[in-house]
Amino acid sequence: MIGEEKANMGKNVQPLLFNLAPAQPSLRDVANRVKDGGVGALTEAERRADQATYQEVTCRSALNRVQGMPFAWTLNPYRGCTHACHYCFARRYHTQFELDTDDQFSSVILVKRNFVEVLTRELDRPSWTREQVALGTATDPYQPIEGRYRLTRGTIAALIRARTPVGIVTKGPMIVRDRDLLIELSRVAKCTVCLSVPTVDDEAWQALEPGTAHPRQRLRAVRELVDAGIHAGVLMAPIVPGFSSSRSKLERTVKAIADSGARFVGANVMYLQDGTRTHFMKFIASEFPAMAPRFERLYAAGKYPPSEYRKEIKAMVGVLQARYGMGRRDRGEDDRETEAADEPDQVGFRW
Ligand code: SF4
Repeated sequence: MIGEEKANMGKNVQPLLFNLAPAQPSLRDVANRVKDGGVGALTEAERRADQATYQEVTCRSALNRVQGMPFAWTLNPYRGCTHACHYCFARRYHTQFELDTDDQFSSVILVKRNFVEVLTRELDRPSWTREQVALGTATDPYQPIEGRYRLTRGTIAALIRARTPVGIVTKGPMIVRDRDLLIELSRVAKCTVCLSVPTVDDEAWQALEPGTAHPRQRLRAVRELVDAGIHAGVLMAPIVPGFSSSRSKLERTVKAIADSGARFVGANVMYLQDGTRTHFMKFIASEFPAMAPRFERLYAAGKYPPSEYRKEIKAMVGVLQARYGMGRRDRGEDDRETEAADEPDQVGFRW
C-alpha cells in the first residue's frame, strides 16, 4: 500500500465513493508511529521474512567433541536456522529436539542463552589444550537473531581469551560486525573464516536458500575480511545438480569468488542424508516436480551422486579456479586434487 501511495503522489487520483477496506495509515502516520513506538507499533504490518519462534534454553556444555573431522570440537550457540537452505545437512539434527526437518528447522530456533558463560568455564579448565574448534557446524552462527543475542560475538571473545584456534563457517554477512575480534583472534591463535557461497546464480539462490543474504553480499563480506587481514575464503558448497552445476553457472561463481579476493575456495557436490534427504525430496516434489525423478536417480545409490559425476564437477571447478587465479592462492586438499585435472572438452553433466 505504501508503494502504491508513493506511486500515486502527484497524480490526480479520484477517491472511491465507497471504500469498505480499513483506513490505511498515511506515510506521515507511519513515520510518527515508528518514531514513538518502533517498528512494533505498526500493528497491521505483515510479518514476512522471519516468522520464527525463538526459544531460550540453558545449556550444560558448549564444547561438543567430534571424531574424524579436521577439528576436534564444535560450537553452536543456536539450533535451527532461519536461513532455511533446503539442502542443509543440519536439518536432520533438529529431530533431536522432537522438531521436524521441514519448517520447524527454520522457524523454531533454540537460543542457548548461557552459552558464553558455559564456554568460558570450559576454556578456563587447566585440562583445555587449545585444540582446533569449529564454530557453526549445525546452524549458522550469524543468522539474523545473532544481532540481538550476540552469542557468537561472545564466543569469539572467549576464544581470544583462551587463545584457541577456530574455523568459522557462515552465510551471514553480519560476520563483518566482528571484524575487530577476528583480527584479535588471528593475532593470538589461528582463525579461518569460510563464507558459504554455493552459487551466484539468482534463481538457484532464491529457490534453495530463501532466508539468506544475496551471494554477492556474502562475497562483499569476504572482501572486507580479507582487506582487514583475516584469513577468509569461500566454500562453494554444496553445488546442487540441476540448479548450480552447469558450466556457465560454475564459471560465474568461481569468477565472482576470485574477484572477492578470497584466500581459498573449497567445493563439493550436495549430499543428502536422513531427514535432509526427506526434506529435500519433498521440496523438489512440491516446487520442481519435473526434476524429482532425476534427483531420485542421481541419489539412488546413497547420500552422494555417483563418484564419476562428482569427479566431473570437481574437475571443472578446478579448471575454473586455475583460470581465475584461485590456484595461486592458498588452497585445501580437494583443490590440489582438482588442480591436476585436465580440462574436459565439454563436460556433459548428466543432469
Ligand atoms: S545457513 Fe547453513 S546452517 Fe543455516 S540453513 Fe543454510 S546450510 Fe543450514
